[in-house]
Amino acid sequence: MKIHDITLMMEEGMTVWPGETAFVLQRDKKIEDGANANVSHLEMSVHTGTHVDAPFHFLSTGDTVENLLLELLIGKVVVVELDGQIGEVTREVVESIGLADGVKRVLFKTRNSDYWATGIQDFQEGFVGIDADASKLLVEKGIQLVGIDYLSVAPFKRSRPTHEILLAAKMVIIEGLDLSGVKPGEYTLYCLPLKLKHTDGAPARVILIEE
Ligand SMILES: [Zn+2]
Repeated sequence: MKIHDITLMMEEGMTVWPGETAFVLQRDKKIEDGANANVSHLEMSVHTGTHVDAPFHFLSTGDTVENLLLELLIGKVVVVELDGQIGEVTREVVESIGLADGVKRVLFKTRNSDYWATGIQDFQEGFVGIDADASKLLVEKGIQLVGIDYLSVAPFKRSRPTHEILLAAKMVIIEGLDLSGVKPGEYTLYCLPLKLKHTDGAPARVILIEE
């Protein structure tokens, strides 16, 4: 059994969505300064790094993150790798990957993972996202969880249609995956978001088990 950690490191200077709170991790109490223990605090958007989106992110009456089903967050998943030339996940792209019947969870490895592999921290507007029509096809195919290797599942400046379609279908969205070290194929996914109450998303530790 091999464990692949596909979670981004959370550290100061990490890539965040334009206009969102920068990630801050600060040690407030320091043993070296005479404190009894080291104690740190965090400041961040709930959409920082590797994270899930809850329906409430784009749907004002949608479920919040603590209601996402663990039964969906854990289980068999297929990692598909797209050619580096592909700039957007369209209906044709989804059709071309030929997802087998019965697949419920799919992670898209795109050229986005190269950003993580090469340590590019500046936000990249040209990242690969899933367009609205492809999102509809994923819903039609019965996909219940979709993941991608940049900070949004949707192409830049076109967030709403893709998110609305996926979240209205109660699909779990995982964003900010680092799939650079993972080959395409079947794995067991463990995605455990923080149990934050009544919120639109949550950072998650996400691993793949290869058997
Ligand atoms: Zn998000």
